[in-house]
Amino acid sequence: MKELVKIRDLTVKFYTYEGIVSALNGVSFDIFSGETLGLVGETGSGKTVTGLSILRLIMPPGKIESGNIFFGDGKEPIDLLKLSEQRMRRLRGSQIAMVFQEPGAALNPVFSIGEQLTEGILMHRRQEIASRALESIELQISGDDSIWAQILKPARLIERRLYKDITSSRELFPRLINLIPVLRRLLHGLRDEASKIAIATLRDVEIPDAARILKQYPHELSGGMKQRVVIAMALTCCSRLIIADEPTTSLDVTIQVQIIELLKKLKREFNSSLLYITHNLGVAAEICDRVAVMYAGNICEIASVLDIFKNPVHPYTKALMAAVPKPGEEPRAIGGFVPDPLALPNGCRFHPRCPKASEACSLELPGMVEIAPGHSVACHLF
Ligand code: SF4
Repeated sequence: MKELVKIRDLTVKFYTYEGIVSALNGVSFDIFSGETLGLVGETGSGKTVTGLSILRLIMPPGKIESGNIFFGDGKEPIDLLKLSEQRMRRLRGSQIAMVFQEPGAALNPVFSIGEQLTEGILMHRRQEIASRALESIELQISGDDSIWAQILKPARLIERRLYKDITSSRELFPRLINLIPVLRRLLHGLRDEASKIAIATLRDVEIPDAARILKQYPHELSGGMKQRVVIAMALTCCSRLIIADEPTTSLDVTIQVQIIELLKKLKREFNSSLLYITHNLGVAAEICDRVAVMYAGNICEIASVLDIFKNPVHPYTKALMAAVPKPGEEPRAIGGFVPDPLALPNGCRFHPRCPKASEACSLELPGMVEIAPGHSVACHLF
């Protein structure tokens, strides 16, 4: 498998009135084409900041200080951190999309589902649907003397040649008048095509009666239905990378299962890569191919899902596993507290809570070492 995303030494800081928060401290990992990578860890470990950094959506007082985020599985991947804001805006939604934890907050309450879905389609798939709309209008043209034939056939509107033809003509005004119904029809055509794509995508996310849902507003839908719509929004325009940030946390358990099954099915069908952010290890085991464990802004272990669950080696990963409640057993909470991000401990961030800590652990931050093919860990024990 080829890498679709390569993150190298990513450092993100937040400059708050209380002090500088080190959210990410030199994070490096890859996401392969077509895989689901789980990003797990406690609240505040930097999972969401990592997802937002890929989309370059870190807002002030936050700042991406350094690092690279290479995107693309071709010969020359682009560094997202070096792209202009205009190119980055085009990439967001068209190649990389995010599904947020709270679907209600991701949808605008004053616009219908249809308006919100088609807006993204019109923005990111403009050329494709303009072409389809023009084709459908052209199919309706009959006779060479029709105004449609005069305007549309010789010069495709979207290629702007039409504008050139008209402005060079002496009969500019009457032709412009004639153009108005064409433009109106084209606009309707665009909306129709966008609606068709929206309905097809709502069906993909298993929403029954998609045409009716398009006319509804977010408050008329249940939580699970809203999350399906948000996933549909990500799918309408994006086929490469979907970042799902705790997409099932706010849903009932039965709906959670449905959404996880849906994401698995869609990933297979669309061959997208999925970065799945979660604090729920059970969900990670269910959906992920590989898992990266985060602690206090660093990756401490990364391996295949089987290795992480069968053979965890980092003391923090082991502690996380032990903290999962099991039937008939008392859950074992991880001792100590998550460090204050304003005053991270020196050396290994986990050393104040680690039962295996030695003197070296409080002095030096351990680097990542590969202990088996595809299994890397950042700990002085290795
Ligand atoms: Fe524990 Fe030391 Fe390993 Fe950190 S580096 S996890 S403190 S043993």
